[in-house]
Formats: sequence, structure tokens, C-alpha cells
Amino acid sequence: MSAAPAADVAGRIAGTVRADIRELAAYPVAHADGCIKLDAMECPYELPESVRDDIARTVRDTALNRYPAADLSALQAAIKTAFGVPAAADVLFGNGSDELIHIVVQACCAPGDVVMSPWPSFVYFDMAARFDHARFVGVPLTADLTLDLPAMLAAMREHQPKVVFLAVPNNPTGGLWSDEDVAAIVDAAPGLVVLDEAYQPFAEHTWMPRVLDAPNVVVMRTVSKIGLAGLRFGYLAGHPDWIVELNKLRPPYNLDVLTQATLMTVLRHKAVLDEQAARLRADREPLAAALAALPGVRVFPSAGNFVLARFSGKLDGNAVHLALKTRKILIRNFSNAHPLLANCLRISVGAPAENAALLAALQEILSA
Ligand code: PMP
Repeated sequence: MSAAPAADVAGRIAGTVRADIRELAAYPVAHADGCIKLDAMECPYELPESVRDDIARTVRDTALNRYPAADLSALQAAIKTAFGVPAAADVLFGNGSDELIHIVVQACCAPGDVVMSPWPSFVYFDMAARFDHARFVGVPLTADLTLDLPAMLAAMREHQPKVVFLAVPNNPTGGLWSDEDVAAIVDAAPGLVVLDEAYQPFAEHTWMPRVLDAPNVVVMRTVSKIGLAGLRFGYLAGHPDWIVELNKLRPPYNLDVLTQATLMTVLRHKAVLDEQAARLRADREPLAAALAALPGVRVFPSAGNFVLARFSGKLDGNAVHLALKTRKILIRNFSNAHPLLANCLRISVGAPAENAALLAALQEILSA
């Protein structure tokens, strides 16, 4: 049999795939071979040899012929201890916190219900909401990229969101919303508030001990930013009754056996992860200060493992991004993402040599 004509495939897709999906582009992931990679807030450090040996041993002894076990209690206990989840809370695991975002939206939103977040923030809040037939409402930050609490409260009154996502610290701006502002949003929210603490290890600030205080809060975290982005593992902590509901949406076996085994092993060496995060925290301010000293560059305060910088000298954000890319240095360009982010580039804190290479390249580019 010959393959179906392309026009027939196109016609069938046009009549079948949702129009809004056909208009989208897939989530962009840059090709990074041979590049200095400062675009995705990964940890630049690989795990030490001893930990990798330990992982190799556990993985070898992991049976691959069976589905993952139903009982995740050992991993749940290990996660709760390692990351300070209150004993009375439960945790739900996701294949990355991206999956948890979908689970929350699917569990809470009937078609057309509102998902809300201060904006700009993590782009996947918007994408997941739309994929899952919810309506996304982004509430603009102030011109200084801080939280506009009165605007948030007014938008919540108007749109009655089922779910509010608050990234604390916020990506891509780096800002850490104050406890008072977060509490005011939690108080006023008619539905669930998800505190997304993906960058918590770099802020040294958390809502986790208070996760059970309000009836409508869960705290979501990921291990992606603390050295394990390749694993795909996120967790969401909250009142056991919330977790029971959300767990109904979890795809069966979403956490594969290799991820589980690796995590159990790595968590025995949690101090290594903490130490890597501490190094990135310590390297953030010197990087921010060096960037701010460049001509025409404004750096926004960051509590994450990255900084957002606005380039308003002779070269605009797009030009600087391209010039760095030509030099095989990858950072993330937000220039065209949102008016509030005009000419803004987001730079992950890398290893010292990577930060130095970036700064040297920028010196050269901006003085050319
Ligand atoms: N939340 C925020 C705020 C993020 O920036 C990211 C990743 N960029 C995620 C969640 C998703 O993390 P992951 O799926 O790797 O766990």
C-alpha cells in the first residue's frame, strides 16, 4: 500500500485537531551541543563520582520487566524528610512539575473556568490551562516587574479563578513575592492556590511549613533546578484530602522505576544537592553586579538561580541574544514574549568559568 497523499493527511488534521492547537508551536527547546548552556536554569554541576557509582548499582538492581509498584510510601517518606514537608501533609508525584500543573488544572477546571497567575510568569501555566480547556488570565506585573497586589485582588474578584498559580520566586523575573502579599491572595482566592516553589532552594524561603494552615493551598516543587533536570520529577504537598482528589488525575505509573530508584539513592546524598545550590546562590550576586555594570544593562532583583537583564544600549535584546548565540552561549530571550519584558534576557547562573565566559562575551559585544 502506498502512503496516504499529504493533502489527505492535511485535510484530516484540519478537520480533527483543535484549531487552537494547530496554531501553536511546540514548547521550544534549543539545540545545545557544544554550547555554554545558560538558558534553562539547570544546575551546571554533575553529581560526584561516588554518588554516580551508587546510582549505577541501584539502577542495575532495578527490575524493568514489571510496572512500577503501587506503593510509593517509601519514596513519599524520603521526600517528606528530605524537603521538610510537614508530617500531616501528603505528597503527589509528577513526571516533572509540568505534569502536576496539568493535573491541577484538569482536576479543578471545567471547560472555560479560569486559571490565573501574575504575568509574565512560567509560560506553562498558560499553555497547560489552554490545553486543558480552561481560560487563562494573566494579571500584569508592575513596570518594575513586581507583584501588583491590588490588580491581583481585583482580577480574582472579577474572574473567580478556580486555580491561581504563584511562582515564588517568579520565573522569568526572579522576584520573590512577600509573605503578606501571598497570604492576601490565598485569603481572597475562591479556589486553589498553587505555590510553585521551583526556585525555592535559591531563595531560602518557603511556604512549606504553612502548607496546611489555609484550606486552599498546595506547594509544588521540582528537583530539576537542584541538579536533577534529567530525571523528570516534581512533587506537590498539601492536605491529604486535596492529594486524594488530585491523585485521581495522575496517569498510571507516571513515575518510572529508574527515576524512583535514582531518587532514593540521590536523597541519601542530599547534602551534595544542598551544597550545589549554595554555590549557585553565592555566585548569583557577583554575576548580577557584573551584568549591571555593563553599559545600558538593568538587572532585576532575583531570588532564583538566574537573573533577568534588560538591554537598552546600542544593541537591543534580540541583537545581544543573537550575538551570544553566535558565540555558542545560550541564554533565553524574552524580548518578544511580553511588552513588560521588552529587551529582556534571562541568564541562568552557571559554573564560574561559564559566568566568566558570558561576561567576557557581553563586554566584547556591547563595546563593539
Ligand atoms: N515551575 C516553574 C516556575 C518553572 O520555571 C519550571 C521550569 N522552567 C517548572 C515549574 C517546571 O519544572 P519541571 O517540569 O522541570 O519540574
